[in-house]
Amino acid sequence: MLGRTPSEPDKDNVTSRSSINAARAGSIFRLTVSFMLMVVFAFLAVESWRTWRDYRSAFASARDSVTNLARATAQHAEDTIRQMDVLTAALSERVEGDGLQNLDVPRIHNLLVQQSKIMPQLHGLFIYGADGQWIVTDKEVTPETANNSDRDYFQYHRTHDDRHVRIGEVVESRSTHDLIIPISRRLNNPDGSFAGVLLGTVKVSYFVDYYGDFRIDDKGALVLAKRDGTILVRRPFIASVIGKSLSGSEIFKRYLPNSSEGVAEVKAVVDDTERLYGYRALSTYPLVVEAGISRESIIAPWRQDLLKNGFVLVFLSLVMTGFGLVVLHQLRQRIAMEREIRHAHQAMRDMALTDSLTGLGNRRRLDNALADEIRLARRQGSALSLIMLDVDYFKRYNDQYGHAAGDDCLNAVGRAVQQAVRRPSDLVVRYGGEEFTVLLPNTDSAGAIQVARDILQGIRSLKLEHAGHPLGYVTASAGITTRHPVDAELTPAHLLKSADTCLYQAKQSGRNRWCSADESGQ
Ligand code: GH3
Ligand code: MG
Ligand code: MG
Repeated sequence: MLGRTPSEPDKDNVTSRSSINAARAGSIFRLTVSFMLMVVFAFLAVESWRTWRDYRSAFASARDSVTNLARATAQHAEDTIRQMDVLTAALSERVEGDGLQNLDVPRIHNLLVQQSKIMPQLHGLFIYGADGQWIVTDKEVTPETANNSDRDYFQYHRTHDDRHVRIGEVVESRSTHDLIIPISRRLNNPDGSFAGVLLGTVKVSYFVDYYGDFRIDDKGALVLAKRDGTILVRRPFIASVIGKSLSGSEIFKRYLPNSSEGVAEVKAVVDDTERLYGYRALSTYPLVVEAGISRESIIAPWRQDLLKNGFVLVFLSLVMTGFGLVVLHQLRQRIAMEREIRHAHQAMRDMALTDSLTGLGNRRRLDNALADEIRLARRQGSALSLIMLDVDYFKRYNDQYGHAAGDDCLNAVGRAVQQAVRRPSDLVVRYGGEEFTVLLPNTDSAGAIQVARDILQGIRSLKLEHAGHPLGYVTASAGITTRHPVDAELTPAHLLKSADTCLYQAKQSGRNRWCSADESGQ
């Protein structure tokens, strides 16, 4: 056989077509699911990226804020202390020039009063003698018995001869009971010996008020501390924290030794709150400022945004999934419906081309196949054979055994014909009544004769009793025709007519035999 012929049963075509359709339906299904998943994942990816970006930018702007805060508070502290530095330097020059014993107390008092009026940070200005006795202050009344020789700064200056300004720890003022930061200087006699102490005090409240003006969150913190870690001022202000040491904190231990300014995310030792701190050590004075924003306040707006977006995302995903499921459901129903329609259509086609009695193909099937096979044979240059079979004396059979038995007989004959035919491309049909036709593509005359012989022998072998037949059992006659469509203008009618003529000859020659255009036999 040179190729697949169109007369082969369509079953294969049908199966392959329906499996192609099933594969196509499956791929549409997969495509839809993939598309839905892709959209949801794209949503998720974009949202995750956006969330991550927002998180980073929240921290970036917090870093800027704490850096700026630290810079502003450091500048403020430096300005405040420098003014005290300049003022006390000028005063000490004056006092030392006059000599402490010759001091014009009312004049100096007036000078101190004037100074304290123009400096808002100033709590008081004091001059103590070598024994700690109050000599002159900016206050209206100078207690005669007051003595500050027990103060830390006094003892320091008495024993140290450096002339720098010294920033002390926060103390409670003896005159006003305010919390103050003492800023002091040693006063010398002309011979360099200790003459007393010049003290300027800065109100802690001055810093507290200044720090209070900044807009930071409730858990934020601003701290002014000495370089050794002792806290001078803190917002939020808690009196008990003043004087505590930050020397054990991470910023003092880890960061400040490496860099005089920077940003660090650490847990505060004072209140255990995690903050992002901007820190800065002053360049001219041994002071450090820290400005911290709580991690909570940085994250809170971001988290709120995340929750809102998350909610919208989940809602959208649910809507998408729901929508997708509806689409998929409809798609599935449509695919199932199409499959049913296809099957019904196929069943109808099969029915239209099948003989209901024998289950073989019918005449319409042969008509369809004939034209196609002639075309194929012409293209391939092959021979095409057709056998026409007719049961002998069948009218008598019917008359003798009845129509139902006649139908059974036709059924058995049909099966015998089909069994004698071996090639899948061969087509057996019930042409009508007790006539069968076998179409043999790509089969020459000798092959067709052989098939006809086998068929007739197969029918004889059934040994179906037929009392009206001279032989006593059922036989059939066959007309065979073989043509090469390449050579002639062949039509289905030609082929059928030619086979029918041969069949007629076989009948005329006594039945139970075959006859072809060239020869004949049993
Ligand atoms: P011959 O040997 O010349 O073919 O004689 P014959 O009797 O077979 O030929 P004829 O054409 O005279 O008779 C054919 C008979 O086949 C007529 C009819 O009763 C019978 N027949 C046709 N179709 C059917 C069928 O579907 N079922 C049955 N049981 N009989 C049928
Ligand atoms: Mg007949
Ligand atoms: Mg007949």
